[in-house]
Amino acid sequence: MASSFASRLVNGPFGDPGLLVELRWQGDAVLFDLGRNDGLPAAELLKVSHVFVSHTHMDHFIGFDRLLRLFLNRDRRLFLHGPEGIGDCVAGKLSGYVWNLTDGYPFVFDVTEVTTAGRRRWIFAAATGFAREEAEPLPLPAGTDPGTPGTPVLVDAGHFRVRAAITDHRIPCLAFALDEPTHLNVDPERLAAAGFGPGRWLALLKDALRDGRPDDARIAVQRLDRTQAEVTLGELRSLVRVTAGQKIGYVVDTRFLPANLAVLLPVLHEADLLYCESPFLDEDRDQAAMRYHLTAAEAGTIARMARARRLKVFHYSPRYQGRGDLLRSEADAAFRGRLDPGVLAELGAVA
Ligand SMILES: [Zn+2]
Ligand SMILES: [Zn+2]
Repeated sequence: MASSFASRLVNGPFGDPGLLVELRWQGDAVLFDLGRNDGLPAAELLKVSHVFVSHTHMDHFIGFDRLLRLFLNRDRRLFLHGPEGIGDCVAGKLSGYVWNLTDGYPFVFDVTEVTTAGRRRWIFAAATGFAREEAEPLPLPAGTDPGTPGTPVLVDAGHFRVRAAITDHRIPCLAFALDEPTHLNVDPERLAAAGFGPGRWLALLKDALRDGRPDDARIAVQRLDRTQAEVTLGELRSLVRVTAGQKIGYVVDTRFLPANLAVLLPVLHEADLLYCESPFLDEDRDQAAMRYHLTAAEAGTIARMARARRLKVFHYSPRYQGRGDLLRSEADAAFRGRLDPGVLAELGAVA
């Protein structure tokens, strides 16, 4: 089955960071980071329902204004999650303009700050000139695992879920994983061959499978002749095709430190696709450390340790213009376990 997620970087690997993920079946999209996004068609940006900002260094937040301008006169509520201080940064951006003509505008920014101490939420409504109003944090749906203080679940919208890892970039910086629930699809041919008919009982069958109920659990079924019966879950399992949901990881602006790995690895675990910053070559490791960034070798090692299936590196330092392939090949070598033994030993000492 095709993935529900269609993801792409907003810019090339040397451009500002940003990742747009379209949720194919729902028609909406989520956006990670607000670097420059002028290259993104307005129609695509307008599909965005949720924005996740890693941190507000300029290259990750300068695209806020375009988003604001596009959404301003629309009847929309845009959810934005960010790290400690995000409320002040949004308020600061909004206070840079005059809003005396937006009384009738229904647009609302719904902003949640995520820290290890919990979350805070503010509403900024165009109708009130974007006056900042504190609100109760949005609850997660009942039964959702909230994660840990360092790896909180931010959103569980049913068709997608976003979890963060709060990492150290000399300021708190959020990494993210977007995933979707396991797909359960009833096979209509097998259903008919077994003599069962469609009906609401199939939804209850899927619930039982999702809940991990045992094989001897009894399920009320409807036969093709519309009579009712009770059958064990074990007998019905083969009617349903189970496809694991996709998972996409997004990591920028962090350091290869034990405390960061401790929050990143569980969140990124077995991602189908990991987008990871890769600004420096290993030979410029000191520069990377000083600026609180990863090297390409470290990016590849994180992907390998997290058992990611694919790795896409980006957020290259401009010093490597024309040599981007070196960054990619160093990250790939680390990802595939083909790193120079000396480098490997040093990375191993950290991890
Ligand atoms: Zn930064
Ligand atoms: Zn950056």
